[in-house]
Amino acid sequence: MFGPVQNRLQQRGGPALLELILRNIYILYMKITFPIPQNDDKQHELCSVCHQGNVYRFQDAEGIVKFECPHCGAIKDRFLGIDNSPNGRVWWIDSDNEMWHESAGIFVRRPDGKYLFFERVAFPFGYTVPAGHVDKSDDTAADTAMRELHEEVGIGATVARVVTTNIIGDKCIGGADCHKWSIFVARINHNINVEVLEKQEGKHPVWLTLEEAATKELPFAIRYIIDHFSEAIERSE
Ligand SMILES: [Zn+2]
Ligand SMILES: [Zn+2]
Repeated sequence: MFGPVQNRLQQRGGPALLELILRNIYILYMKITFPIPQNDDKQHELCSVCHQGNVYRFQDAEGIVKFECPHCGAIKDRFLGIDNSPNGRVWWIDSDNEMWHESAGIFVRRPDGKYLFFERVAFPFGYTVPAGHVDKSDDTAADTAMRELHEEVGIGATVARVVTTNIIGDKCIGGADCHKWSIFVARINHNINVEVLEKQEGKHPVWLTLEEAATKELPFAIRYIIDHFSEAIERSE
């Protein structure tokens, strides 16, 4: 599908950069205009193309997370998650048939003013901060933030909320194109070694100023947050 464009771009920017760009601009309209499983207390990972379940999750030769559909055979970077389980993901569908999720993202700041980023191996690609979806079992987005910090990078820290904002066009691996984000700052008082513990999420942790991060390939939401809230993040105690 991207054949001719791919060939031209490859001559200019090299295959790695090209892959990243193509993966991030790949657009799937995920409006929910078809019947979905309801009231069954189950977690469904449906195919983003034929909307049937359940897709098979695997990592390809480069370690990139993919989903293969047993019905139509499509292999995609995303699935359509319908989570009806009692403690599952918070989600809703708005009057435009858009599915929404809630997310929490944490900017972990060192005394030298640098923040923890790591490279995602699953959609959306680029450098992210620790972040994750709010579950029904989380009392608040701050609880989600602290849980994700611990699960993703093994950091135990308290978090301070900076802002909550809706980001439309923020596509996640689980099929939503809109997210209500709560942004937090966690200050740590010493330099620590960090490892990305969830190998299906990311690799290569790095410490960057927000200015340095802005020069990298970033998922849509992380770009949006840095563009709009850098000052508030830097001011946060
Ligand atoms: Zn399918
Ligand atoms: Zn999501």
